[in-house]
Amino acid sequence: MLPFKVDLRDKVVVITGGGGVLCSAFAEALAECSAKIAILDINADAAKSIAERIIEKGGFAQGFEADCLNKESLEKAREEIIKAMGACDILINGAGGNSPKGTTDNEQFMPGDLEKEIKTFFDLDPAGISFVFDLNILSAVLTTQVFAKDMVKNERGNIINISSMNAFRPLTKIPAYSAAKAGVSNLTQWMSVHFAPSNIRVNAIAPGFFVTHQNRNLLFDESGNPTARSKKILSHTPMNRFGDPSDLIGTLLWLANDEASGFVTGTVIPVDGGFAAYSGV
Ligand code: NAD
Repeated sequence: MLPFKVDLRDKVVVITGGGGVLCSAFAEALAECSAKIAILDINADAAKSIAERIIEKGGFAQGFEADCLNKESLEKAREEIIKAMGACDILINGAGGNSPKGTTDNEQFMPGDLEKEIKTFFDLDPAGISFVFDLNILSAVLTTQVFAKDMVKNERGNIINISSMNAFRPLTKIPAYSAAKAGVSNLTQWMSVHFAPSNIRVNAIAPGFFVTHQNRNLLFDESGNPTARSKKILSHTPMNRFGDPSDLIGTLLWLANDEASGFVTGTVIPVDGGFAAYSGV
């Protein structure tokens, strides 16, 4: 059930990471507004099954296998999308995530930790850090290079990046992901300035805490009970709950709709139950 409907008839929406939890909800909502949806994911089966779900409900969608870190793979998807539905009008750079290789075991470094069998800041794997930076930042750059070329030719377009709460204030234990999402917010502003003369808007949504594949193990133990970290998050979320993907849809539809947000560009919009506003006291 959509919070409201906008008219996206004839718009082609490309969603990367569209086989995942948040972006599949985006795909379904935009399809309900009559957009044609190209779902791109490195996991082809996930992309195709979301497309099938949309088609069963009467929408227009197709799944495409694409690796957002490989420009050739993105170019191939672009050609297939143009044949199947036309050039991209709205690009959602949703592919992203974290890796345990960019994560420390403890929140703070304590004297004596170097002698312990734990993963500290000093043990972080450079390849793991690079992977997280690439997955979040480089993927958005490469995907925009491929799909915004048609936008600049048409002199109109709309790009929505997915940042995070981490971008405003880093979360403990996940330095690579926090810095990467800060990069996504910064890139959003940079692109908004760069593409404004071509009538392309660039904004980002910064979700708070949503339970998805990537963070379920951090938030719940094997019996499904909230972990200590989970309790801490909720105690710092004034609305005292995790977000549901449906909580993001109103912001998404507003940004997708030129009539509603036509003068909005370069913004990063938190949807976080008040997390970013709360100092903890
Ligand atoms: P998810 O794991 O459910 O979805 C991510 C999708 O991206 C997966 O389907 C995965 O196959 C795909 N993917 C991974 N690498 C790819 C690549 N190289 N090329 C193409 N596709 C690739 O995660 P999600 O929680 O739905 O996350 C969606 C976005 O929202 C991510 O950018 C994430 O960082 C961001 N985010 C999530 C939360 C949260 O609480 N879940 C909070 C803030 C931001």
